[in-house]
Amino acid sequence: MCSRPTVLVIGAGLGGIATAARLARSGFQVTVLEKNSTPGGRCSRLVRNGHRFDTGPTLFLMPEVFAETYTALGARMDDQLDLRRIDPTYRVRFDDGLELALTGDLNAMQRQLETIEPGSFDGLLRYLVEGDTHYRLALERFVGRNFYSLADYFSPRNLPLLFQLKALVKHYDNVGHYFQDPHLKAAFTFQNMYLGLSPYVAPATYSLLQYAELVGGVWFPIGGLYRVVESLVSIAEGHGVRFRYDAAIPMVPSLITKLGGGDPVAIISAINVGSHVVDVSPLSTLGAMCIANAAVHEDRNQLFQRLLIYGLSMAVVGALVCYLFFGVLW
Ligand SMILES: Cc1cc2nc3c(=O)[nH]c(=O)nc-3n(C[C@H](O)[C@H](O)[C@H](O)COP(=O)(O)OP(=O)(O)OC[C@H]3O[C@@H](n4cnc5c(N)ncnc54)[C@H](O)[C@@H]3O)c2cc1C
Repeated sequence: MCSRPTVLVIGAGLGGIATAARLARSGFQVTVLEKNSTPGGRCSRLVRNGHRFDTGPTLFLMPEVFAETYTALGARMDDQLDLRRIDPTYRVRFDDGLELALTGDLNAMQRQLETIEPGSFDGLLRYLVEGDTHYRLALERFVGRNFYSLADYFSPRNLPLLFQLKALVKHYDNVGHYFQDPHLKAAFTFQNMYLGLSPYVAPATYSLLQYAELVGGVWFPIGGLYRVVESLVSIAEGHGVRFRYDAAIPMVPSLITKLGGGDPVAIISAINVGSHVVDVSPLSTLGAMCIANAAVHEDRNQLFQRLLIYGLSMAVVGALVCYLFFGVLW
């Protein structure tokens, strides 16, 4: 029997592949179960008559995060991807004919902005300084750390972040501190829509997006974004990760996600992996764990039990508050 601790990763999207590769490099024996017949998830590719189309992401942002991932896997991003910076990132055209090319070239930005609104280039510089603060804080305090419980989110230590990240201020209102012209206010907030958010309701924290685009740059790997998937799969396989495609996990009982020292293999086989037989025989039960990097539905019974417990707890707390403050129980 193999003594290496084993891990099952559910989902071969970018997150699942990178996680699997990191774990394999750290000595785990890793199998990735993917419901589709190819890896990539939302970062996928369509091939028709020899032409390749990226079906998901087109903007390669935050290159330093990708570089860190490749380094952690013992590779160099420059060897894996032929990245080209896209500059200007794009041209924004307004219905009144005004056009603005968003570029990392600050001289060009200064010329364009000062024509639209005198003094606004200074506003852009101040806006980018704020974006830099938001970007770094968000990466350090949210993206780059683990949250094991709700208490990690709502800890008093995080309270100052509400103000530092302007989480309670609307993005569109906030940009008014830097620009007055509505074209500029729109050009430097519409990126919220990438995330399905309106700038009128999104928090001002998202100035980090404009910072990431204009300062970090928007890049494109030759061969398309799917090159990232291909290179990461190849690195992961080099570290011994086994990918099993057409292997959909119907649901994840809470038990699996809470596991740690149990045997996910037994649980997975107990709930049947679709109609497929997944060869999990080399997986040992020693220190096995399961990581779901897919929006897999939780077991409905477990979910119902949890909702019931939350509901009852809220009722008890409510009754206590009424009793203590108003002297009544109803
Ligand atoms: C149209 C579009 C445009 C985008 N543009 C950009 C962009 O320009 N820049 C950018 O940075 N980001 C962009 N994104 C976002 C980016 O694609 C995602 O953030 C990223 O690909 C998510 O990776 P992931 O691994 O977290 O999740 P996913 O890619 O969703 O991976 C989850 C995987 O789990 C698998 N899975 C799900 N359920 C099961 C199951 N029951 N059993 C087994 N496997 C399962 C799925 O098939 C999938 O492969 C875009 C997304 C879309 C859809």
